[in-house]
Amino acid sequence: MLEKTGEVNPEKVIEEFEAMTKDAGRVQKETLTKILEENGDAEYLLKHGLGGRTDPESFKSCVPLVTHKDLEPYIQRIADGDTSQVLTGKPITSISLSSGTAQGKPKFVPFNDELMDSTMQIYRTSFAYRNRDFPLGNGKALQIVYSSKQFLTKGGLAAGTATTNVFRHPRFKKEMKAIMSQCCSPDEVIFGPDFHQSLYCHLLCGLIYGEEVQFVASTFAHSIVHAFETFVQYWEELCADIREGALSSRITDPSIRSAMSKILHPDPVKADLIYNKCLNLSNWYGLIPALFPNAKYISGIMTGSMLPYLKKLRHYAGELPIMSADYGSSEGWIGANVNPKLPPELATFAVLPDIGYFEFIPLNESIEDKEQDDVSDFLRIEPKPVGLTEVKVGEEYEIIVTNFAGLYRYRLGDVVKVMGFHNSTPELQFVCRRNLLLTVNIDKNTEKDLQLSVEAAQRLLANEKLELVDFTSHADLASEPGHYVIFWEINGEASEEVLNECCNCLDRSFVDAGYVSARKVKAIGPLELRVVRRGTFQKILDHYVSLGAAVSQFKTPRCVGATNNQVLQILCSNVDRKYFSTAFA
Ligand code: AMP
Repeated sequence: MLEKTGEVNPEKVIEEFEAMTKDAGRVQKETLTKILEENGDAEYLLKHGLGGRTDPESFKSCVPLVTHKDLEPYIQRIADGDTSQVLTGKPITSISLSSGTAQGKPKFVPFNDELMDSTMQIYRTSFAYRNRDFPLGNGKALQIVYSSKQFLTKGGLAAGTATTNVFRHPRFKKEMKAIMSQCCSPDEVIFGPDFHQSLYCHLLCGLIYGEEVQFVASTFAHSIVHAFETFVQYWEELCADIREGALSSRITDPSIRSAMSKILHPDPVKADLIYNKCLNLSNWYGLIPALFPNAKYISGIMTGSMLPYLKKLRHYAGELPIMSADYGSSEGWIGANVNPKLPPELATFAVLPDIGYFEFIPLNESIEDKEQDDVSDFLRIEPKPVGLTEVKVGEEYEIIVTNFAGLYRYRLGDVVKVMGFHNSTPELQFVCRRNLLLTVNIDKNTEKDLQLSVEAAQRLLANEKLELVDFTSHADLASEPGHYVIFWEINGEASEEVLNECCNCLDRSFVDAGYVSARKVKAIGPLELRVVRRGTFQKILDHYVSLGAAVSQFKTPRCVGATNNQVLQILCSNVDRKYFSTAFA
């Protein structure tokens, strides 16, 4: 797809995507054949008796549905240096650390060149559609990205977050330039050892190249909001750096200082311009287009657990379009946003039928229907997945991935809803993670349920002109009866009365029948709202970063398990006020 000039031809990309998705069923079969031919000699496939067969029926009857736990021993052997064909025909070159934030420890997943190929393919595809609706001019991108530390596994493989593996890949820079996404920060900033310093310099680079910035992006919306909140804190210092042409003393890393010295020169006119623009903003509304007058849009993953940050993002974005980026995971990519004009709340992802073989477990009511799930868990009945082109509009599914990076019938753990079809490939909406967040006894509440409940209570805060900065939850089983604990960080001082109302509203907004009935009979205790001090969620982010997470891949864990001691400790030691619901008294 890369043209001789090094530029991608967006029309050609669109043409190819349209052709491929018109025949998604056939492409799926061919993709499976290719995966199984390339990896047929891998121990994992041999063990399951595939015997070189590559048709979907044999594949599905021989190879079981698995979770990460089932593959962990194989991945561990690879990480420990086993170079035989364990999961793939060609050796795995690196290891990615998937977030796994709920349990507080990252999971290892394989990364290889094929995964890099599909990453760039997804980027190219969504770029082509975005560029058709919002053409970019020549310039640069303010990419608020960070690379986590890479370390070597026992077997000598480089391990880091998936984004780190992508950013560090030798092809990355050239291919991003080809899709007009050249980062305005030097590598030393992206790969800097301390993300606070990197962030400060990303902002400074953005200001230096202010007029040239064509769009602002990060992997997740959270990082964009976090970056501009940081700007609001340090804007005067940033202006001073530009005025003097001297980098703030808070940047201590020598490699960052040296790289920044090459692009930072005294520019009092620019400094004044930025300073005055900031002074003229009302409560920082429209900050991003004020700083980057030629930016065409803001891009990043804004769906799923990122939805709660949209309000703040829209505030900083003013009239500038915001659009949700693609759908994938450390394990592999799934779909591209080919309808960039849709607001993030309605964003869908068209599955790329040639980057993996996808199956879908119909969920119907099963997510709510605990009893049925318990029975199938108990009897170990395998749910019957359907193929990519067999899914139905309006239905929810759990997605199963088979790809070129050693995953075969892998349960990613995500719930998606089919919103329509792009030609014959489905357009998926991300719903939530399948695993339960909050459960005390017969109740079952997912990430989505928590989000809805928080949204309802948040409206009471908004009436008081207060903002919810971030939130998480915990099922407290140590008390008798167990109860839900919701942690809130609020920007401002809320009255006792409002917080009591919020607490009751949170409790009432969990409408799951199991929860409501258990609350009524007091088998679940009153919901507890704990308001934490400002900066608590920043401490949680810092904690994950200290464990090797990359900020650009960070997702606030929406439920903190009892085993995640350190995060629970951060939360509990920062509680300012506590409220108990009287909703079911
Ligand atoms: P990670 O394990 O850090 O690679 O995160 C992957 C997970 O992030 C996916 O399995 C999803 O749950 C979530 N995710 C990725 N892309 C999106 C998206 N576009 N919308 C919502 N959630 C997403």
